[in-house]
Amino acid sequence: MKGKVLKLLKESGNEFVSGQRISEELGVSRTAIWKYINIIKEDGYEVEAISRKGYRIISSPDILTFEEIKDYLSTEYIGKNLIYCDSIGSTNSKAKELAEGGEQHGTVILSEEQTQGRGRLGRNWVSPKYKGIWMSIILRPNIITENISQITLLGAAAVQKAIMKMGIKTSIKWPNDIVLNSRKVCGILTEMSGEIDHINYLIMGIGINVNLDEKDIPMDLKDVATSLFAESGKHIDRKILIANVLNSFEELYSAFVRNGNIKETIGICRKNSILIGKEIQLINRGKITTVKAIDISDTGELVIENAQGMIEHIVSGEVSIRGIYGYGQ
Ligand code: ADP
Repeated sequence: MKGKVLKLLKESGNEFVSGQRISEELGVSRTAIWKYINIIKEDGYEVEAISRKGYRIISSPDILTFEEIKDYLSTEYIGKNLIYCDSIGSTNSKAKELAEGGEQHGTVILSEEQTQGRGRLGRNWVSPKYKGIWMSIILRPNIITENISQITLLGAAAVQKAIMKMGIKTSIKWPNDIVLNSRKVCGILTEMSGEIDHINYLIMGIGINVNLDEKDIPMDLKDVATSLFAESGKHIDRKILIANVLNSFEELYSAFVRNGNIKETIGICRKNSILIGKEIQLINRGKITTVKAIDISDTGELVIENAQGMIEHIVSGEVSIRGIYGYGQ
């Protein structure tokens, strides 16, 4: 009911909504309305109440509920079912649990903070409260297992496009990171459940360091991690950014699963690649080799030239990549 009251107030914009109208439309008493308004205020909304006129919202908090995001969202199915949490262990773990229970394709699980955010290979992901976008998307694509590494690229391309729309020029560190001034501002963790020829579901975890201050980044990550705010000095509107990400993602994803079209995604990954043309280190199960990154293939593999001068195609998976001068250089 709180949600319904909030929706009515939001829809009226600057106009007052009378207590009588709320009471009639939602079938609640005047005292109940007063109670809900107080809860809405506790959530961080500033509500003006004037007798005989009613209520109106003066300002909304910087939170990522569906109510706050929906005006910017133009998707058909991605994020239309959005599960919002104040705090959670890991959005990917929660998404998995929900997907196992049959939660629908396109559902987004989002949390203002993660206390046990995860990276690849059991690594951790720092996710301080209200500072970033920490979310997971449940996907049920009808594609063969072999093609799932391309889904990670769709995510990276969508985030890259979305951040560019905010006026910040980032780069993609194939296959799953977005980098700004040689440090990571976004990581993507794709996990799946399925058999050899069939996918039950995929979880795409996206963590974006949006408004983290220097002090939010732990000492031991200073060389590898930064935020959009720390680099640009601009406070970024998370609601617009998240909607941009979901909008772009749906576009790229639909083209891919409907027509197998991954052209735009590859184009974005190639054009904004931080690796192409550089000497890099490939880390595969602890084994490090220095190679040269040449290109990203039309199917999303990293094309490299090895120490023997041979061309190889690397499929994203367990490989980690480092610049020879540090994380992304
Ligand atoms: P990589 O792609 O660099 O091989 P992962 O994708 O597994 O690594 O990401 C996990 C790593 O990212 C962690 O081990 C840590 O070094 C780093 N990290 C953790 N939290 C953050 C964050 N909020 N922003 C950027 N980097 C982070």
